[in-house]
Amino acid sequence: MTEEIEHASRSELRELQSARLRTTVERAYENVPFYRDALDEAGVTPGDIRGVEDLHELPFTTKADFRDQYPDGLFAVDDDELRRIHASSGTTGKPKIVAYTEADLELWHGVMARSMRAAGLEPGDTVQNAYGYGLFTGGLGFHGGAEALGATVIPSSSGNTQRQVELAQDLGSDAIGCTPSYALYFAETAEELGVDPRELPLSVVLYGAEPCTEPMREEIETRLGATGIENYGLSELIGPGVAVECAKAQDGLHIWEDHFYPEVIDPETGEPLPEGEEGELVLTSLSKEALPVLRYRTGDMTSLTYDECDCGRTMVRMDGVTGRADDLLIVRGVNLYPSQIEDVVLEFDDVAPQYRIDLYREGNLDRMELTVELVDGFDGDREELCDRIRTRLQNALSFTPDELELVEYGSIERTEVGKVKRVYDHR
Ligand SMILES: [Zn+2]
Repeated sequence: MTEEIEHASRSELRELQSARLRTTVERAYENVPFYRDALDEAGVTPGDIRGVEDLHELPFTTKADFRDQYPDGLFAVDDDELRRIHASSGTTGKPKIVAYTEADLELWHGVMARSMRAAGLEPGDTVQNAYGYGLFTGGLGFHGGAEALGATVIPSSSGNTQRQVELAQDLGSDAIGCTPSYALYFAETAEELGVDPRELPLSVVLYGAEPCTEPMREEIETRLGATGIENYGLSELIGPGVAVECAKAQDGLHIWEDHFYPEVIDPETGEPLPEGEEGELVLTSLSKEALPVLRYRTGDMTSLTYDECDCGRTMVRMDGVTGRADDLLIVRGVNLYPSQIEDVVLEFDDVAPQYRIDLYREGNLDRMELTVELVDGFDGDREELCDRIRTRLQNALSFTPDELELVEYGSIERTEVGKVKRVYDHR
């Protein structure tokens, strides 16, 4: 079951987007001094924005703007209209505070329910929600969406993995929502408990909040015997529920563009890029009340395609996020995303999907150490495997680490709560 808007023609959609954009720009200009100043400075009035074709005239909003406007400088409504506050943690400084009116919460739950339907879930299904509850939008976003769908939610939150496995088994969870790294940790824990994770009732893994490469997805699907569905979102826009893969094609994430308008720009120049080219994703909220966001620079690198999808939805698809612009590693002058290394490493059946990257600077030289875990019970030739991984990295990325270490299964620390850390930059 899908909503009519998911199949709207491109021209219908554009008309709706343009109307909503005009309202959003007016709302931001009238109620948020930050946006009034930014538009005045750019010499743009709300009347200049007639539709999405004029969007490029608006200035960008950045992460730094959220921090500078802490706590409520970006709010566009009076306090008594607010129903919820969330915050996204940063590695430095103040968190980014985001707010919701009643209509915003309804919108959020609606797009999350839509996402879950696209993932193949139906009313009556049971969704085990292993995203962290609290200020982080993951927990309550998936929670509200599952309820709006008409599913039963198990608000298990993150951590306590042994109990998670028991709950999935005893309550018959049809789906689990969690980060990709946690999905694998969950499978490992089940195995340790003597439970074959493929025998669990789970048929869908709703993963998100971390980039996930294609080999990582395959690993999740094989280990859990379930379909892996990538979810995308960010607190600054609403939380999870901005885009999702459809179970039918699993080929890119449909952006719910009746509410979130996407552009891809060159991160250096800020110029919009043509369809299919990779660049930084920029999103504009089209329906939100409490916190309208104009041209937010997500820092996520992706590309867009407007080709029709096998599922029949007309909404644009974004490629899985290859990395955050912030995650880009520059090592000896070579630009690398950790996900590119992961892609190569996980091609090898003899390695487990656990690795860490350590970066050091010796004198003026960068030095990278890559540590990769072997599969349980590996008894092959380590040196030979090392050579093959090195050769493959060289061929695929024109790069090899200074040191490549293969370690026993289980020796790299697992993350039970929150996002996994794979890169340790000691430079
Ligand atoms: Zn589709």
